[in-house]
Amino acid sequence: MSTSDSAQQSIPEPFPKNGVIDTIIRHATVITQNDQRTAIKDGAVAIHHGQIVSVGADTMVSGSYSAMREIDASNRPLFPGLVNTHTHLFQSAVKGLGEDLPLGDWLRQVTVPTSQAMTADELYIFALLSCVENIRSGATTINEFSYPLPDSNMHAAAIRAMNASGLRGRYSRGIVDGGEEFGSSPRFIRPIEQSLAHVRQLRTEAHSQGGLIDVGVAIGIIWGMTEHGLRAIRAFANDTGVPVSMHVNEVPFDAECSFTAWGKSTVPMLESTGLLGPDFLPVHCVHMSAEDIHTFARHGVPVSYNAVSNMILGSGIPPIAEMMRAGINVCIATDGSGSNNSNDMLESLKFSALLQRAACRDAAVVTAPTAVDWATRNGARAMNMFDKVGSIEVGKRADMFIFDSATAKSTPLHDPIATLVHSSSPANMHMVMVDGNVLLEHGRLTRLDEAKLIQDAQQMSAALSQRCGTHSLLR
Ligand SMILES: [Zn+2]
Repeated sequence: MSTSDSAQQSIPEPFPKNGVIDTIIRHATVITQNDQRTAIKDGAVAIHHGQIVSVGADTMVSGSYSAMREIDASNRPLFPGLVNTHTHLFQSAVKGLGEDLPLGDWLRQVTVPTSQAMTADELYIFALLSCVENIRSGATTINEFSYPLPDSNMHAAAIRAMNASGLRGRYSRGIVDGGEEFGSSPRFIRPIEQSLAHVRQLRTEAHSQGGLIDVGVAIGIIWGMTEHGLRAIRAFANDTGVPVSMHVNEVPFDAECSFTAWGKSTVPMLESTGLLGPDFLPVHCVHMSAEDIHTFARHGVPVSYNAVSNMILGSGIPPIAEMMRAGINVCIATDGSGSNNSNDMLESLKFSALLQRAACRDAAVVTAPTAVDWATRNGARAMNMFDKVGSIEVGKRADMFIFDSATAKSTPLHDPIATLVHSSSPANMHMVMVDGNVLLEHGRLTRLDEAKLIQDAQQMSAALSQRCGTHSLLR
């Protein structure tokens, strides 16, 4: 990390012409996460129409602009918002249910039945609750991976919740077009053409809502797909530019099914269908051969690493250090809060780094700056959003948070990056901003009635678990 107290980056021409901008954040230690990882002491960030127009020393930036709103960071660190590259928003409904089950049983007994019994109104509340957890843990961009629910109202409700939260993100619409013989729920299976037509429709709907949510495709699992479906998704992605995400090799069962169906394990099968590329984001990748890793590297495929979920479900430890050595762009995520059991990106940040240190018996294999790269720049790249987010730089959207270290856990503060990774919690979030909009201020949400949301979610999840017959101690 280089430190600077004099550099200033600005949009070349005075912008706007009268020099009056929407917001200036003053007196911050700006952790830019730019290419040089510059940290600016007593820095300032000027923001207009949701865009960063100047970053530099406070004296220089504040001398160039006057702002409608001034936020004094009082020498606290200012970080780019974190990027949570994989979650299932509705799963806040099942936190604490299906404990101690491995993946297959957990899906069959808890998660899938719950998703199928939920109403659109319930899904909206659970999705919003997950969004709040993301905001409170500094995540400003999320990649929602929906289940392949046949009711279009459910998908619309989730997108509405994401928009209501003010977060930026992607709604990746879940797709399953086969695999009943391996355990796919028949209620999820739809012809690929029908599902892709729905993705097109969702894109139009999301666009018309005018929020910060775009739409992607989410391939549930290799054994839930036909070869025709995989090839159709690649053709669709090429045609529309819609990015694709997929659960890959979370447990050995995935590659075994692929081998049974096609005589090839998962990664060679995906390669043969043409799916691999920088617009393809595989999630988990726990059980990977050296050859699988090199195949991903060759195709520029990033990997979404979900350490807490892998630990909770006992799925294993992904070979992340090998992936990094191969040049793969590693990013991180919480996964859904059914297998986490939260959507706390700060917790995932710490566990992601430490699990690799333990696995490799090497305290330096993942440093705190590497982990912060995973959660910012790398995540933005993996979602093809690095032109907009992932660092605090001129021209990017204003997604960032002010970190207040005045808690017992985070005191003393010597190195903001080490503190963020190892000694932080949602209690440190002083201000969270997305696209120039303040979503959390002095620890309070600005757009949502959080107390009411928590009450609604508690009541709805109790009723839902009763309807589903999932185990709840409160029944
Ligand atoms: Zn997942």
